[in-house]
Amino acid sequence: MRSLDHAIGTVDKRVTLQIVDTLRDIAGPGNVFFGPADAERLEPYAHDETVGLRAEPEAVVRVTSADQISKILRLAQREQIPVVPRGAGHGLSGGAVAVHGGIVLSTERMNRILEIDEENLMVVVEPGVITGDIHRAVEQRGLFYPPDPASLDSCTIGGNIAENAGGPRAVKYGVTRHFVCGLEAVLPSGQIITCGGKLVKNVTGYDLVQLLVGSEGTLAIVTRIILRLIPLPRVQIDLLVPFDDFEAAADTVSDIIAHRIIPTTIEFMERDSVLAVEKLLKKEMPYRDAAAQLLIKLDGNHRESVEADLHLVGELCLGHQARDVLVARDSRNRDRLWEARRSIIDALNHASPVNHMEDVVVPRAELPALLEGIRSIAAQHEVRIISFGHAGDGNVHVNVLKDQIADARWDALVPVVAEQVYQLTLSLGGMITGEHGIGFLRSRYLPMALEDAQIQVMQRIRAAFDPEGILNPGKIFPLGAEASATDPGPLCTRS
Ligand SMILES: Cc1cc2nc3c(=O)[nH]c(=O)nc-3n(C[C@H](O)[C@H](O)[C@H](O)COP(=O)(O)OP(=O)(O)OC[C@H]3O[C@@H](n4cnc5c(N)ncnc54)[C@H](O)[C@@H]3O)c2cc1C
Repeated sequence: MRSLDHAIGTVDKRVTLQIVDTLRDIAGPGNVFFGPADAERLEPYAHDETVGLRAEPEAVVRVTSADQISKILRLAQREQIPVVPRGAGHGLSGGAVAVHGGIVLSTERMNRILEIDEENLMVVVEPGVITGDIHRAVEQRGLFYPPDPASLDSCTIGGNIAENAGGPRAVKYGVTRHFVCGLEAVLPSGQIITCGGKLVKNVTGYDLVQLLVGSEGTLAIVTRIILRLIPLPRVQIDLLVPFDDFEAAADTVSDIIAHRIIPTTIEFMERDSVLAVEKLLKKEMPYRDAAAQLLIKLDGNHRESVEADLHLVGELCLGHQARDVLVARDSRNRDRLWEARRSIIDALNHASPVNHMEDVVVPRAELPALLEGIRSIAAQHEVRIISFGHAGDGNVHVNVLKDQIADARWDALVPVVAEQVYQLTLSLGGMITGEHGIGFLRSRYLPMALEDAQIQVMQRIRAAFDPEGILNPGKIFPLGAEASATDPGPLCTRS
């Protein structure tokens, strides 16, 4: 991996020993890592899950309270030091990477579920709670928190709020923002604010809760979260549907929706991704030779209505020449159907340790055109591109694999392919990221997707929260003259 040791921007002062002493007073000596003596402990905080991106933080602080965060942000303001909030570091756009150096502020120890309120159907959590732990805790009480990023057993709810994470169940239930009712957050000034609450309705002033959701750690650090819950659906049925024709699988997705059925999930896997999973797991997957597979989940409270949807969805799939419809009604069989889908990202990293992932989103009905266009781009550049993802909400993860491509050609190729994929997506009415965020990875491409006027309004909002620009600099917005949509930039690197 190449290191991003350039520091551009206004807040580029260094973390001194004196600052480290103050951090140790605030968070306790065992919770501050700094300097060569802590090199091993600093290393995991130098990257997230974005392939090829790495930048050493000068210091890491593991906090336990909003009060500590407030003191650290006041110190950072005074000393003009960047602060990068971090959950579990499982992001895929470099959001938690300290590309300008400074302090990485980790919420990993703020990991308590504070309350499950069964009267109001709300759960109150700290930002460092692992998302899957929230699922398990509320499900034990017959309640349901639907957002389910595939990384749910490793990412934090704070990271999900900052990225507005989605997941397979977004088709029916929506994404993280649709479940956030209240937030406590620390502003870059150090002030602690409480927005929203255990409220189903609230129009009191601008909606800062929703502004903070998806703000990628650039406006404030979230310290307490109130999430809406719903009753846990009683019935779930899952289907694995193999197709011999790639386009037929894509057309089926639009047809299901056009028939007014909103499944809980419709996931899409190409043959090459299933074969990559086989190599990783060293076992044969069902219908390994099918051109594409759909994974469909249906849920509800009444078996008859879920079975009726199953019947119609099955007929539609077979009408589009599906080779078969495998049905799983219990959790053991469900897990078998989902095994390949859950392992794809690891499998692709295993198949080609150097790869580049895009996360584009289009209106659902444009999915066949998007997938077709991506195949043309792959053919044009003679590069392996494997697509998979959340077909039911038009969100496709496009993976460009380096395989045996020479380094120089790869470095030149990635930005060209990325830009073509973005142009295709935008021409279909889509956007350049559906759930992984702009972060650092895509910041130079923001002007391709948004009008100048929108970017200016967003930058003024950022300045209103953070006039000194200390919080997560270099994320979302392009870096002035350094940013160019045709410049490969420092990110298109090799591991
Ligand atoms: C295998 C794999 C599968 C994935 N599947 C999905 C998926 O299905 N759907 C999806 O949406 N994403 C997915 N992701 C991406 C990733 O898991 C999500 O973006 C997740 O929300 C990141 O959470 P984190 O705790 O790891 O955040 P981090 O990577 O630590 O941080 C992400 C961003 O959040 C900010 N941040 C973190 N905590 C706070 C806080 N308390 N206050 C303010 N800002 C904060 C950081 O500054 C950074 O900008 C996947 C990733 C992997 C590796």
